[in-house]
Amino acid sequence: MPKYDVIVVGLGAVGGAATCHLARAGVKVLGIDRFSPPHSHGSSHGDTRITRSAIGEGVEYSQLALRSHALWREFEALTGQTLFLRNGCLTISGADAVVMHDVDDFFANVANAAKRYDIPTRTFDDAAAIRARYPQFAVQPGDKAIVDEEAGVLYVERCVAATLDLAAQAGAQLMRDTQVMQIEPSASGVEVATGDNQRFTADRVLIAAGAWLPQFVAAELSRHFTVTRQVLHWFEIKSNPERFRPENCPVFIWQLPRRGGVASSIYGFPLEGDPESGLKVTHEESGPATDADHVDRNVDPVNETARTYRTYIEPFLPDLGPRCVRTATCLYTRVDRSRFVIDTDPRSDRVLFASPCSGHGFKHSAAVGEALAEQLALGKTRHVDLSPFKLERLRDYLRSP
Ligand SMILES: Cc1cc2nc3c(=O)[nH]c(=O)nc-3n(C[C@H](O)[C@H](O)[C@H](O)COP(=O)(O)OP(=O)(O)OC[C@H]3O[C@@H](n4cnc5c(N)ncnc54)[C@H](O)[C@@H]3O)c2cc1C
Repeated sequence: MPKYDVIVVGLGAVGGAATCHLARAGVKVLGIDRFSPPHSHGSSHGDTRITRSAIGEGVEYSQLALRSHALWREFEALTGQTLFLRNGCLTISGADAVVMHDVDDFFANVANAAKRYDIPTRTFDDAAAIRARYPQFAVQPGDKAIVDEEAGVLYVERCVAATLDLAAQAGAQLMRDTQVMQIEPSASGVEVATGDNQRFTADRVLIAAGAWLPQFVAAELSRHFTVTRQVLHWFEIKSNPERFRPENCPVFIWQLPRRGGVASSIYGFPLEGDPESGLKVTHEESGPATDADHVDRNVDPVNETARTYRTYIEPFLPDLGPRCVRTATCLYTRVDRSRFVIDTDPRSDRVLFASPCSGHGFKHSAAVGEALAEQLALGKTRHVDLSPFKLERLRDYLRSP
């Protein structure tokens, strides 16, 4: 049976980055994915992701983003690819705004993280000031905004491809279109069985299976993960396309006011290239729960796209029209108030698992992958602290029925 130091299950954002760092550190690593990443079945597709460094989800995340930004730049130098466009992130919020990523004080957290990590920001204290600089957003009295300057766009498929190219160049063995069926830890190692009846062993295994992760972790844990379907939309720009160019339009997050059936935040990206390709802007879906193998990949043009436009786009971004140029579906994997969970599997300390999703994990994946590689190879992390994401931090939640 072929033997490795580490087997990584799942080669998406996190598994790809971990495999890359392991291989570059000289570890004998096998990475296995059931599809051929980058692909559009999981959580890492749709052209772009927002990256920020003053993180509203909690102060423990900024260290990951800042380290990731350095790593994305390193990967760019090594591959000659553009992975990160730094054009800032505009967060808008009002007095009666809905909650973003289950965090009540998201907006205040952004300002606090910026102060703590010395991240450059610009603030707009009222709607008039926001409108003067960003007329594309139909803000209302009471809205305020902050721009995180150390933020922008990540090109998601390119990032995944870059980590896998670098991993392969450094000697990692990558198996694509191969489904892992079983992960069996024992006292002497971990055995991994695939759908085509191959078996491999390793000293350690990292499970980075994204929305499929609940299938592989201990049962008492898996029931706490919720997978939800998300829909991405690209809407036509019917007027003022220059307002959406990267120099005039940072990536944006808008905690919408609670009115007219609105119960969500929206987020979007600047226009790069042809205005006919539309603007990627969408809102977050909170449910219902689904699973990665049975999720409906079709987007309903009336109940989903037209409703999204009417409710979440038209009142807030009047330059956008109802014609939808493109759609895609994608998966969030959530646990406990959108937190990350990265820890040793309760069944065996030879198995690590990483679920940094909940709709905000991509930006951190370079640093999380590096830290997991260090944890697997050295038994400790050197650049970031993963302890805020340990299971014990979720103890109260996990005790719940
Ligand atoms: C619509 C949407 C918008 C988002 N926006 C942002 C954003 O703006 N900023 C941000 O930072 N984050 C964002 N996120 C979150 C971010 O994209 C995810 O956190 C990240 O992509 C998760 O990476 P992952 O490696 O955990 O999962 P994936 O990249 O999906 O990788 C999991 C891999 O495991 C493989 N796999 C599964 N089962 C098996 C098996 N049995 N055998 C072998 N391989 C297997 C899959 O094929 C897949 O390639 C968003 C997510 C979505 C869905």
